[in-house]
Amino acid sequence: MKTAHVSNCANPQCEKKFKRLGEGKLFVRPANKKDSPNMPRALWLCSECAVQFDLRYDRTLEEYHLVRRCSAA
Ligand SMILES: [Zn+2]
Repeated sequence: MKTAHVSNCANPQCEKKFKRLGEGKLFVRPANKKDSPNMPRALWLCSECAVQFDLRYDRTLEEYHLVRRCSAA
């Protein structure tokens, strides 16, 4: 099974490359009508970013947003 087109951490400030499943957090968004064939369906946060950030799916905009986790102190 191919894991969509995940290649980098979803945090633009982070340059970690996706290596394998089981590291960090993987998010797969539902398909929508705006989809183009090249549009990645999956987003990945590396384990370091997953501690600090979360990805929230915005149903209106139909995209994920990077949000800072408030629990991390
Ligand atoms: Zn990262």
